[in-house]
Amino acid sequence: MINHPACGKSWTGLRRSHCPVCHETFNSDSAADKHRIGKFGIDRHCVDPATVGLVATEQPWGRCWQAPGGDLRFGNTSAAEAA
Ligand SMILES: [Zn+2]
Ligand SMILES: [Zn+2]
Repeated sequence: MINHPACGKSWTGLRRSHCPVCHETFNSDSAADKHRIGKFGIDRHCVDPATVGLVATEQPWGRCWQAPGGDLRFGNTSAAEAA
């Protein structure tokens, strides 16, 4: 169990991604990337994960956002964001 003292949330899984800004927890870095929009160092900011197509799943430890359609821990190349 991993805990973030700043917000008191906890979660399990080393590959989870917890946003230090909005304190939502994501299934993976690639899922977390989706809720951060704008350009790095300019206007990068969080948006509501639901508005970028992520779906909330209820875990024993709380809410976890993930991309719809299954586990994309390794398959999501985030091609759109890399462009
Ligand atoms: Zn965030
Ligand atoms: Zn937190």
